[in-house]
Amino acid sequence: MDYSLKTHAIDSFSFFPHLVHAFSPRSFESVKDVHEELLLGRKTDPKSSSQHRQLLLESLNIDSKEIFFVKQVHGDRVFVLDDPHKSVDQVEQEEADALITDLTEKPIAVLTADCVPVILYDPEKHVVGVIHAGRKGTQVSIVSKTISMLSRVYGSRPQDLKMALGPAIGGCCYEVEAHCIAPFRESYREWKDFVTTHSQSRFMLDLLKANVIDGTRAGISKENIHRSGECTSCNNDRWFSYRREGTTGRIVSLVMLREKPAKV
Ligand SMILES: [Zn+2]
Repeated sequence: MDYSLKTHAIDSFSFFPHLVHAFSPRSFESVKDVHEELLLGRKTDPKSSSQHRQLLLESLNIDSKEIFFVKQVHGDRVFVLDDPHKSVDQVEQEEADALITDLTEKPIAVLTADCVPVILYDPEKHVVGVIHAGRKGTQVSIVSKTISMLSRVYGSRPQDLKMALGPAIGGCCYEVEAHCIAPFRESYREWKDFVTTHSQSRFMLDLLKANVIDGTRAGISKENIHRSGECTSCNNDRWFSYRREGTTGRIVSLVMLREKPAKV
């Protein structure tokens, strides 16, 4: 292996022996001391994405040659990957913004550049989920809807769930207009906790905080919620930021279950 690719991880998630998770960085060393952008979005970077996805999987010691993504549409649908024979192309046709699965060795992922990537893990039932929570997805509570789906399909109890929020645009940098705030007033009675007034008609929106609230009101305990603490815009040298750059690459937030040894 002559390249070096270091993904970002959440410490308390790395602790689980049968779980793999990662947030892909902006660049990697393709050969010693040569930094190259890590281009993983099939839509944004069709040329490099297949090759770079292979590097990502290899760096995580994942045998699968493919990553399961859905067609993200800023909605609240959760796709359940329960058919081991479904191809990545079939799954990518599914319009959804979250994926959940209990299948092992199947990496599921979302693409973001500022939106909040969320990973959920239930160590009791050994099931995972990954969520693309942008402004619209957060407004329609995609995190709590995914938690409901985990409970319904796999019997997960919210109090057992662990939640990780990856690199996303922070409340420090995400400035929006009044019309973007209005829907949050409807769907979050705690909206004042994550919206601050910037000027007469401009507001700072903390989407990470909103998603933490969405997770806790669905029953996840605060001590089970972990944040990467990385703002994509403040740390634009390390992460892609759509707000900061316009056309740019994407962060892949990936999670995969490993086979648990059978209990004796
Ligand atoms: Zn920032």
